[in-house]
Amino acid sequence: MPDTIPIITKLEKSALNKIEEVSNERLNLTKCEQCRSCLPCPNEVPIPEILRLRNISVGYGQLEFAKERYNLIGKAGHWWEEKNSSFCQECNKCVPKCPSKLDIPNLLKETHNLLIENPTKRLWG
Ligand code: SF4
Ligand code: SF4
Repeated sequence: MPDTIPIITKLEKSALNKIEEVSNERLNLTKCEQCRSCLPCPNEVPIPEILRLRNISVGYGQLEFAKERYNLIGKAGHWWEEKNSSFCQECNKCVPKCPSKLDIPNLLKETHNLLIENPTKRLWG
């Protein structure tokens, strides 16, 4: 049986490590580790998914991709999230649950301001 596992060369591995390093520098102490300990939010804000888009836009510089995904929240049926950061009521219930000690309400607000677009656009239709 042929080996289907892609082999990563040393060069590719070092490039990936460099990308990760730059991303961590950019995010500094604000990286969401996607552990999901902050859930559930009483207002059903999908904190890890929104902060993942922040990781991608701030850390990896993928702003357009993150904007597209963020602006599809609430418009893509069951395959994507229903609520964006604007549903956060700043109750702070999530904050003590975060092992990374992130200021979640402020990061959500910052992500919303960074990614929200008007008028909204769709990938199809
Ligand atoms: S601060 Fe916002 S995100 Fe955190 S639990 Fe309260 S409503 Fe949810
Ligand atoms: S608990 Fe903190 S690090 Fe973990 S997913 Fe929630 S915001 Fe991210």
